[in-house]
Amino acid sequence: MTLETKICQNCKSKFTIEPDDFEFYKKIDVVPPAMCSLCRAQRRLAFRNERVFYKRACDKCKREVISMYSPNKPYPVWCYECWFADDWDSTDYGQAYDPARPFLEQVQEVYAKVPKVALIYVRSINSEYVNISADNKNCYMLVESSNNEGCIHSYWVQQCRDSVDLSYSHQTELAYESDDCYNCYEIPTFSMIAGDAVTVSGALIFGISNITYSTGP
Ligand SMILES: [Zn+2]
Ligand SMILES: [Zn+2]
Repeated sequence: MTLETKICQNCKSKFTIEPDDFEFYKKIDVVPPAMCSLCRAQRRLAFRNERVFYKRACDKCKREVISMYSPNKPYPVWCYECWFADDWDSTDYGQAYDPARPFLEQVQEVYAKVPKVALIYVRSINSEYVNISADNKNCYMLVESSNNEGCIHSYWVQQCRDSVDLSYSHQTELAYESDDCYNCYEIPTFSMIAGDAVTVSGALIFGISNITYSTGP
């Protein structure tokens, strides 16, 4: 097989399929893709909604809850209390595999009937709007984060306190609008890739470490 250039059926841009890719598709017995790699990645990521929150009813107790699933989803969505209760058995939703029918068609049938938990979290205290998270207290709008207290609007933050608009940060306190900060204290406004920084008052800090009482980058 030689390199082939195709038009993505979704975004209409050109993309190439390498000879090694053709070998791999042949090995796993699938047809070559009709969409470019970015559109395929977008489709895979769309499978899991992490950051959009909806109000909807729990399909079991009918209570209004916060969920990563919109109210019009065709499958049942249960609140945390209903989903983690011991009064149901997920294996009751199982079905025998029929080798005469397409496998993915049967996966789709099971997926459509098994209840999903409204948001994925454990041991949250006063943190209603957190998803894919654990051990957070007094937090709001956190995703992929654990062991935080008093943090809001952040993604992938661990062991942080009293911070706002952080991403990919660890053991950081009193920070605002910062990314990739580790072991930092009191760093306001757009700091990136900082480590062991204390009371940094300048903006656009990039790639610094071991800094104390700075007035600029
Ligand atoms: Zn595309
Ligand atoms: Zn419920």
